[in-house]
Amino acid sequence: MGDDNPQLIIEAYPWQAAQQDLLLKLTNASRLHHAFIFHGAEHLGKFDFACAMAALLLCENKNRDQHKQTNLACQNCHACNLVKNMAHPDFFIVRPEKETKPITVDAIRELVEFMSRSSSRQGRRIVIIDQSHRMNSNASNALLKFLEEPGDNVHIFLVCSELDALLPTIRSRCQKLSFVAPEMTDAVDWLKANVEFKVDTALLEYASGSPLLAIKLQNNPVFADRHSILAGLKKLLADNANCMSYASAWSDYSLVFFLTWWHACLVDTLKIKLGADIKQLRFQSLSSELKFFAEAIDAKKIQTFNEELFALRLQLLRAAPFNQGLMLESVLLKWQALAV
Ligand SMILES: [Zn+2]
Repeated sequence: MGDDNPQLIIEAYPWQAAQQDLLLKLTNASRLHHAFIFHGAEHLGKFDFACAMAALLLCENKNRDQHKQTNLACQNCHACNLVKNMAHPDFFIVRPEKETKPITVDAIRELVEFMSRSSSRQGRRIVIIDQSHRMNSNASNALLKFLEEPGDNVHIFLVCSELDALLPTIRSRCQKLSFVAPEMTDAVDWLKANVEFKVDTALLEYASGSPLLAIKLQNNPVFADRHSILAGLKKLLADNANCMSYASAWSDYSLVFFLTWWHACLVDTLKIKLGADIKQLRFQSLSSELKFFAEAIDAKKIQTFNEELFALRLQLLRAAPFNQGLMLESVLLKWQALAV
């Protein structure tokens, strides 16, 4: 298959073993709740996990029944292949049409309409709502009605990275299952077995420990330039260097990513100021550079500045119109003023 039609992954990742075991046990005991929220940080593979569970519930390979403890989706039967290709008649995925768009009531109506037809293969029917925290209020209310009477043999998996953004009434009707990043050594081992590029722990620090995000970030310019950026920020504090030239040198970076990373670095800086051990830092590999900031800037000032960075980032995420170069320059001017 080409890239236009990538197949779904219908296998859980090793760091999801506990969650998989739990759902498998509940399924084998016929006690699987009809609605689940899979929640946790982004890029932990929660959507892939939901697809793996959908395949597990729809797989028609009869031999699986002899192995109750390990009867995961066989990956090969007709039903498994239909799930992989998003063509199974009893499997429905709802997701935002575009990265920045909400899930609207029309998408939920389509789901309800799909579910109102009887099962075409006389078995379970599975719905995944990906990025369910992006449902707008009409969509949420429509889903709430559906959750009250979903019908027999229907299972709904809400994939969510902002649990608080879901209606409390939706949360209370679902069982919640949380997902976390693997241990650093497990993450490194998994990457080494699955990717061609050289894996180092500094990349995983950037990816908050998520191997899947590490794959995305391996060529990220902010990651590649991290030491020179920190050297630049240091120069701005110490030498009264020219903000405009740095703003222009850094203008090609994704500003949201740049600010997110800078914010996280300053969170570490504050921790250093409070006497934290290096092991408590996210960017352990940058600790000597961050120590310089901790010594050069007053804690209260770092905190205020960091709140501004965070607010700016939220503003950018809402896609407000902006001039990236000017915005970065004004942030750098504020940064420079912290030193005095
Ligand atoms: Zn199968």
